[in-house]
Amino acid sequence: MKKGFPIIEKSKCISNLTAAFKESGPSSLLSQDRAEKFYQLTDRMLTVNEQFNLTAITDPDKIILNHYADCAALALRLPKGAKVIDVGCGAGFPTLPVAILRPDVTVLAVDSTAKKVGYVCETANLLGLSNVTALVMRAEDGGNDPKLRGSFDIATARAVAELRILAELCLPFVKVGGEMIAMKGKNAPQELSDARRAVAMLGGKIEKTEEIFLHGGEEDVCHPLIFIKKNSATPAAYPRPYAKISKHPL
Ligand code: SAH
Repeated sequence: MKKGFPIIEKSKCISNLTAAFKESGPSSLLSQDRAEKFYQLTDRMLTVNEQFNLTAITDPDKIILNHYADCAALALRLPKGAKVIDVGCGAGFPTLPVAILRPDVTVLAVDSTAKKVGYVCETANLLGLSNVTALVMRAEDGGNDPKLRGSFDIATARAVAELRILAELCLPFVKVGGEMIAMKGKNAPQELSDARRAVAMLGGKIEKTEEIFLHGGEEDVCHPLIFIKKNSATPAAYPRPYAKISKHPL
């Protein structure tokens, strides 16, 4: 028997997941097979979490709400067949839920921490997710790589940086006509007003914010998704080295 974290019963995990997805809207994306993949993911994440820190949330119900239902809201809104880059994927959020729920999209997961990328890659293999690839990379380096720059329909990120910094990390990856979708928290209104100039300088236009309401047993969670359209190519000067991006945000 595993020790040190809550023991997850498969049938309970799947029924709680089904209930959470029903409450939060994206139940159309859930099937038995996909629910089982989420169970496998929970088991694996909590097992590996014993060796190195992947998630501060270890209660399976909270994982379902704050990680899975949250990322499912993004999955629901991705265009069909989209080529997606997840900047700062950490332990695979939103990469892994998106890949489970949207087999039609491909996701490139990038993070500067090799251990996290290794975990995401192995987990995707274990779950049979052939639509995931993962790279150890700093976003500002990738954004200057001609093989990656301007080549994604969607760049997304959750909990990586404030919006004006995030825009410089993400928008260079997006094709003209594509979108950056930032998964944001309570500070979104302030971040949005601070980021207007940066977004315009990078070739983007703030399109809309959608509030995502997640209803869980004891708690409700509300997160905005910020959609930024890429209207023109990002000037060659961006992204700058990270020290410049963070010390002198656009
Ligand atoms: N998206 C995940 C992880 C958030 S933690 C989630 O929502 O759970 C932020 C992650 O971004 C960390 O894993 C960190 O290594 C990564 N990161 C921060 N700045 C980065 C950069 N410039 N390039 C690549 N990864 C970066």
